[in-house]
Amino acid sequence: MRLPVLASLLLFSLLSAAQLPPTRFDRSGGSQTPAYQEAISWWQEADRLSGKVKMLEMGMTDAGFPLHLVLVSENGDTDPGAIRRRNKRIILFNNGIHPGEPDGIDASMLLVKEVINRGYRLRDNVVVAIIPVYNIGGCLNRSADYRVDQDGPEEFGFRGNSQNLDLNRDFIKSDSRDARAFADIFQLLDPDVFVDNHVSNGADYQHVITLLTSQHNKLGGEMGEFMHTRFEPSMYTRMKEKGHDMIPYVNFWGGNKVEDGWQEFWDSPRYGSGYAALWNTFSFMPETHMLKPYRQRVEATLALEKSFIEFTSAMSEQIRDVRDRAKQATIKASSFPVKWTADRSVSRLITFRGYSSGQKPSEVSGLPRLYYDRSKPYVRDIPFYDGYKVLDQVQVPQAYIIPQGWWKVIELLRLNKVQMRAFRTDTLVEVEVYHIDDYKSAARPYEGHHPNSDIKIRVSREKVSYRKGDLYVPMNQLANRFLVEVLEPHAEDSYFAWNFFDGILGQKEGYSAYSFEDIAAGYLKQDPDARARLDQRRAADSVFAKSGPAQLNFVYQQSKWFEPAYLRYPVTRVVK
Ligand SMILES: [Zn+2]
Repeated sequence: MRLPVLASLLLFSLLSAAQLPPTRFDRSGGSQTPAYQEAISWWQEADRLSGKVKMLEMGMTDAGFPLHLVLVSENGDTDPGAIRRRNKRIILFNNGIHPGEPDGIDASMLLVKEVINRGYRLRDNVVVAIIPVYNIGGCLNRSADYRVDQDGPEEFGFRGNSQNLDLNRDFIKSDSRDARAFADIFQLLDPDVFVDNHVSNGADYQHVITLLTSQHNKLGGEMGEFMHTRFEPSMYTRMKEKGHDMIPYVNFWGGNKVEDGWQEFWDSPRYGSGYAALWNTFSFMPETHMLKPYRQRVEATLALEKSFIEFTSAMSEQIRDVRDRAKQATIKASSFPVKWTADRSVSRLITFRGYSSGQKPSEVSGLPRLYYDRSKPYVRDIPFYDGYKVLDQVQVPQAYIIPQGWWKVIELLRLNKVQMRAFRTDTLVEVEVYHIDDYKSAARPYEGHHPNSDIKIRVSREKVSYRKGDLYVPMNQLANRFLVEVLEPHAEDSYFAWNFFDGILGQKEGYSAYSFEDIAAGYLKQDPDARARLDQRRAADSVFAKSGPAQLNFVYQQSKWFEPAYLRYPVTRVVK
């Protein structure tokens, strides 16, 4: 049947009404990524056109724009509470945390375009949640020149956010509004699977995409086992079936040769995957390789997103059960590890497709430089060291107590949905108190801080009086592991390490030596033990024995006049 031209046009526009428009990536033949506003407009269009897509405005970011969250489900189930009640798994894809690595921004758009335009079916047991652009400030700061050794796209954003922070170091300290908006989303969704899309630099090799998996040792128990023997292997198999030869993230930064293998990346809680792992979420960071053309990288990222969706759908019940049991174990755990070390006795072989490398004189310096020879590819089985072992663990207390003055910490705990209650009256409690015996602070700032490390603590048991309004944090909750990581001062990414408690590292009161001399003399006469301690120290330390100020200060520090708050960690532990 021949339709009049006008009628044909009308019919065409009706049929195509539900079709999402091509993305910038499509229109450019895979060489461009959209600017921030363009990407958001596209997602708004997706929300408008399809009942399967809902875009929500979440918390404010440093850039002055709200963080967006897109929820995609086959039957339009996009209410987070209802999703859980209907027994669906949630996968959260985070994109553009490093906007110079926009592969996930485009792959997620292509994914949803396939869901809407081409019938890529999500099963009813899964909901896909997408943060279209996480680092908005970085995405707005667009250039063709950042990332000098990356093969496309033509223009992209910058790594630092609107405060020039690296958001993939900010998940614990949360200096950015971005990280706070993210925590809100994370705690709202409690995703079963979290995927943070990246692009890698480092060694050259043939593989287009690599996968960083949150450490199975750290997940531990049944969940770690499931990650190690079911989830992670299935990603490699599924990718191979889709034509992508993915290998573990090449965590190689020179030193020996890449053929000697490498150690699994250490994802402490400051990173997205390390943070998510504290909440019993299966977490991953795909890293495509910078020297592969943008189109190939995005296609590989899309294939991996589908692999995550398909595995999560297929294993929906197992993932729910394993996570439920892991959460119960977290609530009941009597100890958690806080320090790890690479276990070089554990490795498995992976088939690595590399390029021969060697040294040749640099045309810049004349000195030897590393080069990879792409005309000499090789295939070799090499060891991948994917084990970590516990160096130190902490007994979980019955509760922590935080005096209300430390409100910046309390605010971050609230943000992470930590349950706590305020004392209703002034209360005397017997607690364990940590004293900071030693620590180092970074001389130069790192991500807006001078982090403390090499922290040595000593414990005392004391009766401490707390005031009405101080906070009691019971350790019988889903946040248990998070709480241990942030509140135990010697844990790697603790709030103490991130300088939240630096106020205790400075002495606030002192004395005028000429005046205290007489007071100290009287004190030593009245207290023979104090006199004995001074004599003992003098006998043991000849430099000390020759210093008047050092000896006076020693007496001061041993006396009742010395301030108790100095080097005394204010968060205490209630133990049985
Ligand atoms: Zn990155």
